[in-house]
Amino acid sequence: MAGAGKSLQGARIVLLGPPGAGKGTQGQVLCQRLGVPAISTGDMLREAVADGSELGNKVQGIMASGALVDDATMADVVRDRLAKPDAGRGYLLDGYPRTLPQAETLAGILRDAGQELDAVLLVDVPEDELVRRALLRGRADDKEEVIRERLRVYREKTAPLIGYYRERGLLREIDGNRPIEEVTAQMAGLFGTGPEGD
Ligand code: AMP
Repeated sequence: MAGAGKSLQGARIVLLGPPGAGKGTQGQVLCQRLGVPAISTGDMLREAVADGSELGNKVQGIMASGALVDDATMADVVRDRLAKPDAGRGYLLDGYPRTLPQAETLAGILRDAGQELDAVLLVDVPEDELVRRALLRGRADDKEEVIRERLRVYREKTAPLIGYYRERGLLREIDGNRPIEEVTAQMAGLFGTGPEGD
């Protein structure tokens, strides 16, 4: 098991899973316990849109349609973010990588830094439940057709990462279709941070 018997101070973890599986919420809890920043590319892009920056203007329409921002743009975003001092002590990546080329970009960033990933956590939830949750959440980009499109893109572009990381021995599967405390407990158990705490 990843991290068993090993300190995960400085852990580098990727959260993988369909849109709406609760990766963000789960990630917040886990990174507090591990003492590493949560890095969400979706949040970064939404901030860019809110700021009206050049990046924001470029990605706004793409995000609204449920499509993915191109890999080259995302490589710049992630490379810059992972170079910030707080990422030096590890991180939990939420929403990146989302395509095989992005996984290769991340592998290159890690290789250049002489680092490795500790684990890739797959948080899985059945599709109907994802649509129900997304509609409840009611964000501007959460219209049903956009949700379905995001799920289609996930199956086509992102789901292949499951096999990619499984082959590399990094994949850990979490059943996300349970009460949040149980999901959190399972995640914490993977990293030996224990069920206690906040
Ligand atoms: P999220 O909050 O992670 O679901 O991201 C919201 C939207 O931002 C996605 O539907 C994409 O349009 C865009 N996005 C976020 N991360 C990525 C990424 N790694 N690659 C491409 N597009 C992304």
